[in-house]
Amino acid sequence: MTPRLRVGSVTVHLLSAGWYLTDGGVTFGIVPRALWEREERPDESNRIRFGLRCLLVEANGLRILIDTGYGDKVSPRTRQTLDLHDTPGLVDSLAAAGFEPADVDLVIDTHLHADHCGGNTTERGGRIVPAFPRARYLMQRGEYEVACRPNERTRATYLAENYRPLEDAAVVDFVTGDADVTPAVRLELAPGHTADHCIVRIHDGGETAIFLADLAQRPVQLERLAWVAAYDVLPLVSIETKRRVVSEAAAQGHLLVFQHSDAVGRLVRTEQGVRFEPLPLD
Ligand SMILES: [Zn+2]
Repeated sequence: MTPRLRVGSVTVHLLSAGWYLTDGGVTFGIVPRALWEREERPDESNRIRFGLRCLLVEANGLRILIDTGYGDKVSPRTRQTLDLHDTPGLVDSLAAAGFEPADVDLVIDTHLHADHCGGNTTERGGRIVPAFPRARYLMQRGEYEVACRPNERTRATYLAENYRPLEDAAVVDFVTGDADVTPAVRLELAPGHTADHCIVRIHDGGETAIFLADLAQRPVQLERLAWVAAYDVLPLVSIETKRRVVSEAAAQGHLLVFQHSDAVGRLVRTEQGVRFEPLPLD
């Protein structure tokens, strides 16, 4: 059974595009291993597990897919480096929830790193085409422009094959800044990981859930604002964005949905600050 959340009248299916292993030191940035390994023990190669959670949101008559994992175009070498486990992958996970790719009306990319948008496109008969044949794709214009001009630092993760073919197929809707996608789904700038990185707010009937994307990979990074991943391009901005989101989420009891961790839960205020309380998923 695919885990689901209800947010008012909105159904959120918690899908998975698999998982991979990544360096724990990079994930915790300037935090020494002696501190972070108390939270999470890495394997013998210093790696920790990153899930590839994607959401299918049924809201206001639309089926909206949020992020698409690495997809099926990953080279054997990269697959090995990442120790990528994607069988079952996103399409299998969609099927388990009762949907096929043609059921998706809209794909939202929180940002264009390869682990978030690789599944946007797929290869058919030697051509790279949209993987969701009926869908429009929504993304930040600023993120797209940066992704189309990768530099030495971003080249390994900004792969044109994941987004250029969408523009060639004229299926992209670019937005700049916060955007109400439907009355219940809002794409919101949450800069730091990249300048135009977004989170997604799902709100209906007085309830709110926030899909965090790469605002934080682990709950402890919300509890301790200085714990920012080394791959964030604007780490000081990440801290300010986290301060804002954490303060609102703790005050209003929003449900927080992580992407690279399996966690779903809420922040509660304590004398020391905030503490994340996970919610059991069925
Ligand atoms: Zn990521």
